[in-house]
Amino acid sequence: MVTEAGITPARLEWRSDDLGNVVPISLDFDDVYYSLVDGLAESRYVFIEQNHLPERFTKLWSNDAQNNTFTIAELGFGTGLNFLATWQVWHTIASQQASKTLSPRLHFISFEKHPLTLTDLARSLKPWTDKDPTLVPLIARLLDCYPVLVAGCHRLNLSETVTLDLWLGDAGENLTKLAGDGRINAWYLDGFAPKVNETLWATHIFKQMAKLSATRATVSTFSCAGVVKRGLMDAGFEISKVKGFGRKREMLTGVYSEFPNSSKKPRPNPPLTKEREQINLWHRKNFSHVAVIGSGISGLVSAWALAQRGMKVTLLDKTAPLAEASGNPRAVLAPKMTPIAHVSEHLHSIGYLYAVRFYQEINTLSSQLVFEQTGVLDLLTKANVNVSQIADYPDKMATTLSTENAQKLLGLNEQDLSVVLSENLFLPQGGLVNPQALADVVIKHDNIQYRQFEVLTIQETVRGVVLKGRESELKADAVVICSAHASHKLDARIFDFRKIRGQLSWFAPTSEQLKQLPNLPLKFGGYCSPFTPSIGDETLNSVTPNVPHFLFGASFVRNDLSTDIQANEHASNMQKVLDALPELQTVLDDALQSNQLYARVGIRAQTPDYHPVVGKVDEAGKVWTMSGMGSKGFAFAPLCSEVLADLMLGNVPAVSGEMVARLSPHRKTLQTSLNHTR
Ligand code: SAM
Repeated sequence: MVTEAGITPARLEWRSDDLGNVVPISLDFDDVYYSLVDGLAESRYVFIEQNHLPERFTKLWSNDAQNNTFTIAELGFGTGLNFLATWQVWHTIASQQASKTLSPRLHFISFEKHPLTLTDLARSLKPWTDKDPTLVPLIARLLDCYPVLVAGCHRLNLSETVTLDLWLGDAGENLTKLAGDGRINAWYLDGFAPKVNETLWATHIFKQMAKLSATRATVSTFSCAGVVKRGLMDAGFEISKVKGFGRKREMLTGVYSEFPNSSKKPRPNPPLTKEREQINLWHRKNFSHVAVIGSGISGLVSAWALAQRGMKVTLLDKTAPLAEASGNPRAVLAPKMTPIAHVSEHLHSIGYLYAVRFYQEINTLSSQLVFEQTGVLDLLTKANVNVSQIADYPDKMATTLSTENAQKLLGLNEQDLSVVLSENLFLPQGGLVNPQALADVVIKHDNIQYRQFEVLTIQETVRGVVLKGRESELKADAVVICSAHASHKLDARIFDFRKIRGQLSWFAPTSEQLKQLPNLPLKFGGYCSPFTPSIGDETLNSVTPNVPHFLFGASFVRNDLSTDIQANEHASNMQKVLDALPELQTVLDDALQSNQLYARVGIRAQTPDYHPVVGKVDEAGKVWTMSGMGSKGFAFAPLCSEVLADLMLGNVPAVSGEMVARLSPHRKTLQTSLNHTR
């Protein structure tokens, strides 16, 4: 269903508040983002104090429940001031507590239809850095992670225990997408005043809030308008009027109750759709030790997502990390684009945007470059978008370069590329992932222990699972099977994927040849890219560290499980490059004669609907899987691992309920089994 178009950023003017700060005013709604008396103090009083957050946060540390995520939902992210003030309180409380194995986490979900541009956000937050210097690092981090402004959910893991999900688009619409029934602990209603913005105070919003509210969820809002009081009460909140902030006489607070006001009759639960029923079934909370089988990209990032949430993870592989299809010397990270109206539900796009943030974060933890943000040029040979559709995107995500600039960027000055480059897609955030460097960081995580271990069978027990090997066994509370096409053998309930052989080719060009080859990754149905291996990469592939190489590929052969290097696939890989860029004929002919070609072969696991499988396999929630990434693992897996971890812990995923259903191991499109050789 196409519902969103591009996102229109907020239109602002700037005024002085009572303290002399220059603060934003919305031109779209002709209203203030916060009180002109003192926005920060208002935020603390109306939202933090009136939702009793300091006490409730502190309690999480004395709570024995292992899933102690506190989830706040806000309508109207605006300048992020409420969020920052909340994070600050969280941070202060967290730093005073003794550490816990599974540390409490803050999940802040905020909805925004007209987000501020990054420049406006920085400007609007500036005054608070002077007022409260302890906000400085939090503001810097938010600005650093602020997403590209396209519709959908943008997950920002801002610290080890704080996650912000920014849902861009209409809140009414996005609230219905949230797979979080009964999960929200506190609500901040911070839309502009009801008289200038009815949309955020509509009956359907209050009803949706009730559905998403946990028992005794609280709500607070600066507004005391009749429509707000009635709406909240009708939806099942017991409300109270309390003193307002600054010049405001009153404000509202409320508590979600299954027995609202005087009526003692249980509130009928809102009807569950099929897909929501399934999501609710998936919630499970008591995992302290999880085994992950398979250490390709899916296993690595799943282990990471679980370990980041405090679980102890044993990461297993029968051979070695990256021994199979994920072990190419480099992976090109660039999405298959879609017209912008579909972006929020398009796994390629949302997966890519999250993956870029994820790899950038991993870069900060690595001595080697895990993600090299080179930018990627797509020749639009096999794309779903044309140049005018690309123009709908923010340039930071996707743009078209002039032929001249594209040629300059490629560094191919001698050839005439005016025809080939006349239409193109440039992805400034794309680049190359170094799988080996990623694995090195993951395996060093304090909560991850890597073990070479071949799992032969998985036995579900009362307490969890027992993984049996040839000579020993391993017990865990749950297992996540990330074994691509071998997953089905470990658990027949997992789809028997299509097996697709892929060979990637590369060589080390001479410096003369290098000058005639593209300078950055290029996509054209196939892909090619220069790369320079880091020290350590030679343990995985035939490459020489610190010497420039050039890769191209990959082949795509169905039903072939062989992994030997084949000359005809080298040739077809090269032909694909030449079909797209015939101008490279001379240099590639020359390379073929004078350089040795190397390769790596992997077997990809693919579903018929091209979506991976992510979620629970058994009824009880002891067996989980994340597999079937096809050739898109490096783009899909980071976001999918967040979905997996959220489902395991019973938290609100950063994708819609529909997307969770589309990833389900039990979805309809996987019900008809394929001919096994396919
Ligand atoms: N909480 C914010 C802060 O800390 O700066 C201030 C929020 S401001 C008063 C209200 C926000 O609600 C604006 O940013 C506005 O764009 C947003 N908004 C208005 N209508 C909306 C809708 N239908 N869906 C989502 N956001 C909406």
